[in-house]
Amino acid sequence: MTVQRESQRNHVARKRFGQNFLVSPGIIHQIVDAIGPRAGDTLVEIGPGLGAITEPLLERVDHLHVVEIDRDLIARLRDRFTPERLTIHEGDALKFDFGALKESGPLKIVGNLPYNISSPLLFHLVPFASLVHDMHFMLQKEVVDRMVAEPGTKDFGRLSVMLQYHYHMERMFVVPPSAFSPAPKVDSAIVRMIPRSTSTKLGSGETATDPSLFARVVTAAFSQRRKMLRNTLRTFISEADLAALGITPTARAEDITVADYVRLANTLAKFAKP
Ligand code: SAM
Repeated sequence: MTVQRESQRNHVARKRFGQNFLVSPGIIHQIVDAIGPRAGDTLVEIGPGLGAITEPLLERVDHLHVVEIDRDLIARLRDRFTPERLTIHEGDALKFDFGALKESGPLKIVGNLPYNISSPLLFHLVPFASLVHDMHFMLQKEVVDRMVAEPGTKDFGRLSVMLQYHYHMERMFVVPPSAFSPAPKVDSAIVRMIPRSTSTKLGSGETATDPSLFARVVTAAFSQRRKMLRNTLRTFISEADLAALGITPTARAEDITVADYVRLANTLAKFAKP
């Protein structure tokens, strides 16, 4: 079943803002249940749009922050919700400083994300992980599959390593195109992301000592994923040193684990130190 509310009428969905609005009450209910909002939570919704998730969230909490870029939609949200209940941050979520909300307590961030910016937005959120309690996002199913992929599978890539390093992630359920208006061409899925606290990050001793070096090594390894690590990482480490670390030099980027990448980067960080 789908619904078209009064608030949805006369809005032409803007492709450039990745606008596919949720219209299935059943799916909306399932998403809100997955988020599990409780009174007192500090909730932040990215891209509230016409309020499909915003409204049911506000039935469970007193107040919500939203970040929205589309001025027409912002005007509608202002008409519909009072500032006491809804704080609207007008602008681009890719530039939004989530740190500005840190005084409000651990953040629960949610959103049916615009698909055209989903990966950059996930990377934009990483530096704020220590302020976050959990995040629930709707993304293209194919992207969620890559986020939660296991090593040794074709979906395991840079996105998997970088996000699994920072978060525990779980694919919750798949959402068909019919749940949206306009309907996208592909399936979507809901993912739950819970930051690993620094102390539990992959177990003790497995935290990247130089996060930027870790990111560069991962990027280099997956830059040509069909090539062997001894080739893609040639500028970082010799074949013999790779083998000494217990990493098979003929392995490909997708064959080694997140913990292997951390170990590799930490060894390189030690070499680099005087
Ligand atoms: N939450 C609504 C729903 O589920 O029906 C709308 C989801 S729609 C897929 C994505 C929303 O994100 C739209 O409201 C769009 O205007 C907004 N948006 C797109 N790009 C954005 C950006 N860079 N920053 C903030 N919001 C953005």
